[in-house]
Amino acid sequence: MRAMILDVPGGSLRAAEVAVPEPEAGQVLLRVRACAVCRTDLHVVDGELPDPKLPLIPGHQIVGTVEKIGDGVGRFDAGDRVGVPWLGWTDGACRYCLSGRENLCENAGFTGYQIDGGYAEYTVADARFCFPIPDGYPDLQAAPLLCAGLIGHRSLRFAGDAERLGLYGFGASAHIVAQVAAYEGRRVFAFTSPNDEEAQGFARELGAEWAGSSEQGPPEELDAAIIFAPVGALVPAALRSVARGGTVVCAGIHMSDIPTFPYEILWGERSVRSVANLTRRDGREFLALAPDVPVRTEVMTFPLERANQALEALRGGRVRGAAVLVVDSR
Ligand SMILES: [Zn+2]
Ligand SMILES: [Zn+2]
Repeated sequence: MRAMILDVPGGSLRAAEVAVPEPEAGQVLLRVRACAVCRTDLHVVDGELPDPKLPLIPGHQIVGTVEKIGDGVGRFDAGDRVGVPWLGWTDGACRYCLSGRENLCENAGFTGYQIDGGYAEYTVADARFCFPIPDGYPDLQAAPLLCAGLIGHRSLRFAGDAERLGLYGFGASAHIVAQVAAYEGRRVFAFTSPNDEEAQGFARELGAEWAGSSEQGPPEELDAAIIFAPVGALVPAALRSVARGGTVVCAGIHMSDIPTFPYEILWGERSVRSVANLTRRDGREFLALAPDVPVRTEVMTFPLERANQALEALRGGRVRGAAVLVVDSR
């Protein structure tokens, strides 16, 4: 099969022909149709996350059809369309798993990081961690739901019932969260890089009532903010924008260092928290909610062999919505 492979972090991906994997007990073999590109992929490729499997096939927003079923898998049939998310395996036995927090599992395996992912024509996945894809979502539009959507959903839950919601960084995740937040009757304020009028216009199209530069404050106080951009300096900026009792949610897996800031911007029962990974419950909830909104993902497509260009487009902020690798469009 064709695959894009990371040999050494810090380098680029190499196009290669490798053997199609065999599903072990509990796994399904999927013919990959599309795989969305996440900023986490960029952190893995750049070596910003420790100890990836090497060589590695990245990609953790996979839409594929079941081609072969390993022993003991009861939930899927050949031909079913399923999604594979970032959370690829847990031990089911640690204190986190046993308390409904499998996203924090001490021994978790993550797709496209410790487990080969979807930048390839085929992949194997533990069937227990796969999701049925809602009918009516084309492959390309469904792929970004699997991380941008799921992590966005989890982040939005941690924003509580905030009416005035700030979104810092208007990429794949924010473009989905903006739609859900508007559907829930929240008021969305979108912050982008200075002068990124394209992204600001995009945010307004998706229901943001205000969009502007992260260097300026919002026109009024916010009740919560979610930071999607991997920029630590946005933490004090967001804290300065939220009202007393407000929460700042850091949604990314990696961020540049957070500058020191005066205690007074945290005072007033403001809080800062991170969101790590996802639970299967997040996936079920969000994939049930998405068709009701309905979430419409905007995608920029690249053929599998152009995965490096997709990553560079993401790095350069040139992706409107989500970047998706088209693996098999039949
Ligand atoms: Zn565990
Ligand atoms: Zn991701």
